[in-house]
Amino acid sequence: MNAPETVGLKTVGHWISGRLVLDDKEEEGIIFDPALGRETKRVRLAGPQTVSLAMDAAAKAFPEWANTPPVRRAKVMFAFKSWVEQNREGLAKLITSEHGKTLDDARGEIQRGLEVVEFACGIPQLLKGEYTDQVGSGIDAWSLRQPLGVCVGISPFNFPVMVPMWMFPVALATGNTFVMKPSDRDPSATLFLAEGLKAAGLPDGAFNVIQGGAATVEALIDHPKTTAISFVGSTPIAKLVHARASSQGKRVQALGGAKNHLVVMPDADLDQAVDALIGAAYGSAGERCMAISVALAVGSVGDALVTKLAEKSKAIKVLPGAVAGSEMGPLVTKAHLEKVLGFVALGEKEGAKLVVDGRGFKPSGAEEGFFMGPCLLDQVKPAMTIYKEEIFGPVLSVVRVKDFEEALALINDHQYGNGVSIFTRDGDSAREFSHRVKVGMIGVNIPIPVPMAFHSFGGWKDSLFGDHHIHGPEGVRFYTRYKAITQRWPKGIRSGAEFVMPTMK
Ligand code: NAD
Repeated sequence: MNAPETVGLKTVGHWISGRLVLDDKEEEGIIFDPALGRETKRVRLAGPQTVSLAMDAAAKAFPEWANTPPVRRAKVMFAFKSWVEQNREGLAKLITSEHGKTLDDARGEIQRGLEVVEFACGIPQLLKGEYTDQVGSGIDAWSLRQPLGVCVGISPFNFPVMVPMWMFPVALATGNTFVMKPSDRDPSATLFLAEGLKAAGLPDGAFNVIQGGAATVEALIDHPKTTAISFVGSTPIAKLVHARASSQGKRVQALGGAKNHLVVMPDADLDQAVDALIGAAYGSAGERCMAISVALAVGSVGDALVTKLAEKSKAIKVLPGAVAGSEMGPLVTKAHLEKVLGFVALGEKEGAKLVVDGRGFKPSGAEEGFFMGPCLLDQVKPAMTIYKEEIFGPVLSVVRVKDFEEALALINDHQYGNGVSIFTRDGDSAREFSHRVKVGMIGVNIPIPVPMAFHSFGGWKDSLFGDHHIHGPEGVRFYTRYKAITQRWPKGIRSGAEFVMPTMK
């Protein structure tokens, strides 16, 4: 393979028709290295002209790609899978340098994205329709699914590789062409993936990357050639995107924010529950849509739980993500760090007890980075803002409840319904919980129940707007439309026109 075109750029541009595009007239955004706390690169923000260039390229590539047999599309996915495997380390470093998460965590997100590519490699099997021989005398019927056209993906900052890979492998494998708009805070890794698709043999124009912010997203949604939009980000923007796209009759799935609870039952293995909470609350500095941000301590378990959580959270190694042994890196930007610190102060003001205060913590040698340490708040009440709103930082709230029913009612009344978990040794509690909880993804003694690629990912309530979850079988349905064919071949006897509703004889 040639030296990568998209790595080492000081100005991150777009990828259209298989090549890098930089338009000097466009505005620029700033990319920071969160561990250094300073600007390292600029990113171009696409205006309507660049959006149109990308949409035209994708529309031009569509007919031929849609007509390419699924087995050949699958071969491109196989080649892309091995390209990602060969470039895994370079991708992980790019993620860490712009997002801040630890290298191991970056490798983990690449792996979860790769699993969707592996799923897409099986597209010939997934696109098989259903067939009925002899629905009527001499008549057969079958159904199949066909691609939609140009699909658009819009992703958040927190998974610059995995979330785009929830979208485009399935969209491309089903025969669509794609325009991806990553977050302007960490856009380089997604751009690098475009080079990988080209190296894997994807025709130019079938996959394009556009950089930008709100205005770019609006132009993408409104473009007449856009047929479907996959969005992942915060709830207010997910709502806007869903409303704007559906008012134009476009297919849209918009995944939003979260406030994931973990229920600790009195019979749970407490050490196991504490380890699960520490990893799920503070991993990736809490900047995960499946992070646990609320521990519901049931009955007598509260005091012991808080003591153990305090001890373990204080021991977390907060270091730049690229430093060996780092367990938690910085937050993505200074503005986001300040927002999270503001929530901690508000929690204290609202009457919660700040048991572990990570505010002001800076690893030595990285004093300018956007760091804070883990925070633990006890005695959090459902009426508090810190309970109701998504914080998206390394802040864990403990809410004490008297029993299982109170825990379940709190979760079911919450605005968000992305993920949830219960730790218990009792099968009856686990079964009852899974059956009655109003949340999209449930873990039983599993803290972050992210479904594998051959299932689908998505929440309920304000965590998802639209009818389809993402990737897996739901992804295949989202990126295709259904067609039913009923067929008869003439065999001599002609019965003339029939004027009544056809029924199969
Ligand atoms: P965000 O909503 O700020 O941005 C998401 C995308 O929307 C970005 O590409 C951004 O450029 C674009 N955007 C921003 N403002 C816009 C506007 N006014 N109009 C149109 N587009 C706009 O989210 P973020 O801060 O990048 O990511 C964190 C959020 O994403 C959290 O709320 C997190 O829970 C959520 N998230 C959800 C999932 C999920 O699967 N449900 C997964 C990952 C992240």
